[in-house]
Amino acid sequence: MHISPKIYIQNLIKKNNSSGSILFYGLNNGPKFSLAHYAIQMLNCYQLKNQEPCGVCNACVKLKALNHPDLHIILPLPNEKKIDGRALAVWKKHIIKNNQLNFEEWKKIIASELGTEKEPAIISEKISQISSILKLRNFEAKKRIVLIWYAEKLNPIASNKILKMLEEPPDKTYFIFVASDKDELIDTVRSRLERIHVKEKISAQNYVTPNTSKESDYSFESNTSESPADENFKKFQTWMRACHSKNIVELSGLNLEISKRKKRGYQSFMNFCVNKLSFCCRYIVQNKEHAPSNEEMVFIRKFCKHLKLKTLVLLLEEIESSIYYLERNANSKILFLSLSINLFKIFDEN
Ligand SMILES: [Zn+2]
Repeated sequence: MHISPKIYIQNLIKKNNSSGSILFYGLNNGPKFSLAHYAIQMLNCYQLKNQEPCGVCNACVKLKALNHPDLHIILPLPNEKKIDGRALAVWKKHIIKNNQLNFEEWKKIIASELGTEKEPAIISEKISQISSILKLRNFEAKKRIVLIWYAEKLNPIASNKILKMLEEPPDKTYFIFVASDKDELIDTVRSRLERIHVKEKISAQNYVTPNTSKESDYSFESNTSESPADENFKKFQTWMRACHSKNIVELSGLNLEISKRKKRGYQSFMNFCVNKLSFCCRYIVQNKEHAPSNEEMVFIRKFCKHLKLKTLVLLLEEIESSIYYLERNANSKILFLSLSINLFKIFDEN
């Protein structure tokens, strides 16, 4: 069954609300960029109308012009310091005029307007710069966007750096990849992305808004690896169940799995759990029943049924104090175990 790209993107965003990564790909002169541009506005519009970006709010206006403090654009460029400052402005000017600008045309523009014929590529320094920006808070956007145009031009080191970010994406951040050939991306990066194939035949002319009603011109593939948020939620479920039932075997297994993650694995997992438990607190207080009934909500509903607000608050306090010690370099494996035993007690006594 075909669904329109608009609905597909809406569903994706609903599913991965806090962060995500989408690849728009298709051969030269397809509207892949304009569809990506549309998704970026959809992620940030303050007043979606029938799920469509309004085009007039503060976020839409800035994003349409590609001038938004939380939109970070990465382009293939020749590795030359002298062009760094000007290149982005030149690219924006051209892509706004012609949103189907392709790589060969971009090379010519670089030669004529920036005065160099060196082969453009995306080098790892650019990714490192973005990675340090992503450690800061968003300026104003609902979702910060990292847009990588012609992502197949990521060199191998840059690809691996980007992969690390995709594995543990910062909160409220979307990575939008635009590429003409998805097979030139390294496998590990490609498999992390939701992929939207924008076929060439749609139209040769430029659009402002893609014609999202022509369903047959698009096809979709989901990413093959689990999103980190799903993975964290599964671990959260396991942890809470193991603590509730004092299942030491399950707990040790979980501890081992988290310890294999990269640095800050425990911290990011525990922060995730704090968020979920805070959500549970709000859920109990507001006693809302209209929340969407996905898998996550089914668990949360069951979990909250048997718990008092006081118990949840005690769990939260325990985890938060452990995060404090983790940040001060406590032995994370031992800390996680002793924290879990404290959680056993809280479940037991309340
Ligand atoms: Zn808007």
